[in-house]
Amino acid sequence: MFSGSDQIGYMRHEQLATLVARLMALGYRCLGPAVENGAIVMRELAAPDALPRGLQTEQAPGRYRLTQDPLNRYFAWTNGPQAIKPHAFAPEESLWRAERNEHGRLQFTAVEPEAPALALIGVRACDLAALALQDAHFLRATRPDAHYARRRAQLFLVAVQCAEPGATCFCASTGDGPTPRAGYDIALAELPDGFVTVAGSPRGTEVLSSMNLPPATPAQVEAAAQQGQTAAASQKRRLPGRNLRDALMSRLEHPQWDKVAARCLACGNCTAVCPTCFCHAERDEPVLGGQVSGHVRMWDSCFDEGHGYLHGFNVRPDTRSRYRQWLTHKLGTWHDQYGRSGCVGCGRCISWCPVGIDLTEEAAALVNSEAQP
Ligand code: SF4
Ligand code: SF4
Repeated sequence: MFSGSDQIGYMRHEQLATLVARLMALGYRCLGPAVENGAIVMRELAAPDALPRGLQTEQAPGRYRLTQDPLNRYFAWTNGPQAIKPHAFAPEESLWRAERNEHGRLQFTAVEPEAPALALIGVRACDLAALALQDAHFLRATRPDAHYARRRAQLFLVAVQCAEPGATCFCASTGDGPTPRAGYDIALAELPDGFVTVAGSPRGTEVLSSMNLPPATPAQVEAAAQQGQTAAASQKRRLPGRNLRDALMSRLEHPQWDKVAARCLACGNCTAVCPTCFCHAERDEPVLGGQVSGHVRMWDSCFDEGHGYLHGFNVRPDTRSRYRQWLTHKLGTWHDQYGRSGCVGCGRCISWCPVGIDLTEEAAALVNSEAQP
């Protein structure tokens, strides 16, 4: 992003509303940051000029607070609890229904998901990387998930470079941020009076071309690149390596698992906010009268007791084994499934853990200690 191309434009701050208006005119429902219950979430914009300015956050293990950006930027905030995930992999949705016909036979009907065209404005590099992982899971060639595929195809992604990562962010160490590199339709880097812009898809090119933006000057391009490097260098947290598979799998009986289990509440907050977690449960919902039943899929968590229940017994009966499952899958065996770690360094699981468990600290405590014989 932001290097060596005359496709790089410059959009003044006041033109941001024009970009949103263009997307709305193309039929997209535009979602941007909004404050809800003290946190930043993505909500539909009522008007092209409704994007808020000056939002910022302060984050630490178990802590998330809204603050005010002294520079009054549009995108000074770092990620809230939501990622792109709920807009492609719905938290709860009907998959199919069964109905008894007049002959008493069951008929099954697929439920078509509602999938409006959505433009998400302000997505971050870590979340684009997480979406690529979700794509690898849900869109595998042999058995693509029709519901996910339908929602995913409707997304238009306006990404933003993180100029000031949160204290819990570590996307530089996972190689996923803070500057978006792929997976966006349009990417922006916010400077004091506007945005360096670049298109990442034919749809993005079409939208930016329609705005007739001037090319960014070399100084503006350089400022955006510098901003990204400074943001990466400012991150204090990091993982102790990109591939921890063997290190973690050789420490399955390490005493650190007991230590973390003594603190962990098994609440599942970490899996709920994680942009890459894809586990789900399914249940049947019969309607009173017994003629109709719906089949529903909803997000699940490896911290839930029922998640480890198999054929009459629980394979993960305690918090120690559930936390170990979460960490060894996320940072270890994900490599076997998808060729990389399942962590994109967004830091959400650290900020939203009620007892402030920090996965970078847990990974380091395990990996930097002696392997078991
Ligand atoms: S690590 Fe934290 S967020 Fe995750 S289940 Fe344990 S207490 Fe909850
Ligand atoms: S494991 Fe934590 S830091 Fe990594 S992607 Fe998931 S929520 Fe983000």
